[in-house]
Amino acid sequence: AAKAVGGNAIRFHTAQMDQRVSLRMSLETRLRKALQENQFELYFQPQVAAEDGRLVGAEALLRWHDGDSMIPPDQFIPVAEECGLIVPIGEWVIARAVGQIAEWRNRHALVPPIAINLSPRQFWRPSVSHCILDALNFAGLPTSVLEVEITESVVLDPEGDSIEQLGRLREAGIGIALDDFGTGYSSLSYLQRLPVGVLKIDRSFIKSLVVDEGAAGSEPLVRAIIAMAHSLSLKVVAEGVETPEQLQALRYLGCDIIQGYLFSRPLAPGEFAEKYLVDRKNP
Ligand code: C2E
Ligand code: MG
Ligand code: MG
Ligand code: MG
Repeated sequence: AAKAVGGNAIRFHTAQMDQRVSLRMSLETRLRKALQENQFELYFQPQVAAEDGRLVGAEALLRWHDGDSMIPPDQFIPVAEECGLIVPIGEWVIARAVGQIAEWRNRHALVPPIAINLSPRQFWRPSVSHCILDALNFAGLPTSVLEVEITESVVLDPEGDSIEQLGRLREAGIGIALDDFGTGYSSLSYLQRLPVGVLKIDRSFIKSLVVDEGAAGSEPLVRAIIAMAHSLSLKVVAEGVETPEQLQALRYLGCDIIQGYLFSRPLAPGEFAEKYLVDRKNP
């Protein structure tokens, strides 16, 4: 009987693995096609000053239109990272972001720094720092127009020379933000090793910032993160701010910048420009 059960278990496991592998393969094939057929788009989510709500930046977020459906990044970025497609996809993101900034600067007076997300895998060859600096140089744009967002996991990736590349970007004048802070490994030593100027508190901490009396909220943690960041001269962005109560608490705690649905969802480029960028011709 034991043998039969074992046999079944193995067969079951194999079938499940087969399914997972083939699902991944089809996604990989579709991602490759998406890149060729221009199915990607960048959306832009405003970042505003906590004190007065003025626009201080925006995060570029990748969107994939697959026919009529929109596949969220959380479903395809991990696959793209695993199979290496994140490198050409990431190059597309850099080119699109720089192209969009150039286009906006031609038409509008003020375009705030735009932040793009980078995966650890992008710090392998070819060098993502060169790709970014070349793109800006080619477009004739100053480095101040762009920022990059990384997670602590770049430090853990043994393949790339991420710290050197980040140093090069920072030296060239590109702002670096540490994304999803407080999740993952969050070793404080990374803050010393990475040349970051901005710390983004993960959405999960903002979600539990304001809770009913008696419940354990994240307020003490958020307070400590902000104090630590400020003592290191880092600016603090709160991610995923959805309610006026959260905004009020963050203001009280001295958080610098707010990003979240309370102000705006990520917007298509046209809508972002229309709502947030001031025109040179009719201000
Ligand atoms: P992230 O970099 O932490 O981006 C913030 C995510 O939070 C975005 O999800 C954004 O839409 C979402 N968000 C913003 N405000 C709120 C809010 O108030 N409530 C809630 N519930 N969510 C909010 P999105 O666009 O689905 O992206 C998910 C993740 O995919 C990103 O997390 C980032 O890690 C990755 N990603 C997106 N675009 C790129 C890209 O171009 N390259 C790379 N490597 N990764 C990307
Ligand atoms: Mg991000
Ligand atoms: Mg984040
Ligand atoms: Mg994330």
